[in-house]
Amino acid sequence: MPGNKFPFSGFSSAAVHAGHQPDPNYAHLVPIYASSTYVFDEAEQGMRRFSGEEEGYIYSRWGNPTITEAEKRIAALESFGLVDATGNPLALKAILHASGMAAISTLFISHLKAGDKVLSHYSLYGGTDELLEKILPPLGIEVIIADLRNLEKAREIIQSDRSIKMLYLETPANPTIQCVDLEELTRLAKEKNLLVAVDNTFATPYLQQPFRFGVDLVIHSTTKFLNGHGTAIGGVLIGSDLDHMNGNVTKVHRLLGGNSNPFDAFLLSQGIKTLEVRMQRHCHNAMEVAGFLENHPAVSRVNYLGLSSHPDYHTASKQMSHAGAMLSFEMKDGLEAAKKFINNLQMCIRAVSLGTCDTLLCHPASMTHHGVAKEHRERYGITDGLIRMSVGIENIQDILMDLDQALSN
Ligand SMILES: *Cc1c(COP(=O)(O)O)cnc(C)c1O
Repeated sequence: MPGNKFPFSGFSSAAVHAGHQPDPNYAHLVPIYASSTYVFDEAEQGMRRFSGEEEGYIYSRWGNPTITEAEKRIAALESFGLVDATGNPLALKAILHASGMAAISTLFISHLKAGDKVLSHYSLYGGTDELLEKILPPLGIEVIIADLRNLEKAREIIQSDRSIKMLYLETPANPTIQCVDLEELTRLAKEKNLLVAVDNTFATPYLQQPFRFGVDLVIHSTTKFLNGHGTAIGGVLIGSDLDHMNGNVTKVHRLLGGNSNPFDAFLLSQGIKTLEVRMQRHCHNAMEVAGFLENHPAVSRVNYLGLSSHPDYHTASKQMSHAGAMLSFEMKDGLEAAKKFINNLQMCIRAVSLGTCDTLLCHPASMTHHGVAKEHRERYGITDGLIRMSVGIENIQDILMDLDQALSN
């Protein structure tokens, strides 16, 4: 069976092939290895596998061939075209999890201890915000939330508090589509040796590669654009410190038990293959939708990074190859108008989540960010009239037709 001996020069070639191991039975696609445990030829082999002397699977909470393919594929995309300090291709280790939240939990627990602080910013994913505000403080890990678009402020905080161990960034952020500057913030963090972790879910490695700026860790909810079809929940934690990833991070992942499973990993591996073509269509459609909404009299504001009216337009242009498929907009007449609009939709889907082929719309204040205190929501710009939209890959004229009729009925 021929395998690839040259490096992939195109992103989609890597998205389709990277991480694939030829199957001993000549199956084209990686099989769904539905087996909880793996057989030893002899007791000594089991001993060698446990001691790490011999590579091989042992137990599916620890690893599984279907899961490995998805992990290697994602690592290949996050490092695509990047080199390390010595000029060699950047090596990354990815660990697939049951969900984005499981990956974020492993990230925090494997890198922080009581007395440490995390510095982060406004308008994070609702679940991440709650984890930082409610679950970590009783474990002795505190969070400082600041507007990190203000680099002077960021420098001041980083320089003045020696307990800060990690900078946790989400860009673009949910649901206001705010961006923080990955290059500048990583530079400030590295002056103080802080770890930098980035949630790259909204951008995907096709639009933004945080490792380019020297960050240490990236997480994704693979549930979203990477899977792309809304068929499975998943998350991934990717790191450039291979010793630490293979050591303590792997240990925490295995012991917390937030492992993925072969069926979801299979769906993910297949979904990733079309990431580039989907993202191109998603992005094209989103730009059209943003232009349409910006000119609609029922809409008072559109948050989309492709519009020069977005306050973070320049930051986004610096670090992303396109503005992406996520936008939010504010109904001029507030909550009642937002409800009516959502109820009027015919083709577009009323649902939370994002990154599927279908266009999805939701109302963050009452749905995804319901668990975030109202005064925080308002400070973050998550007002009652705000609607979040994940623009799908349907034909643009149908998306616009649906929005138009829903806004005018
Ligand atoms: C969905 C999401 C998460 C959480 O992922 P799950 O797969 O739902 O656990 C984290 N961050 C962002 C930006 C998300 O959109």
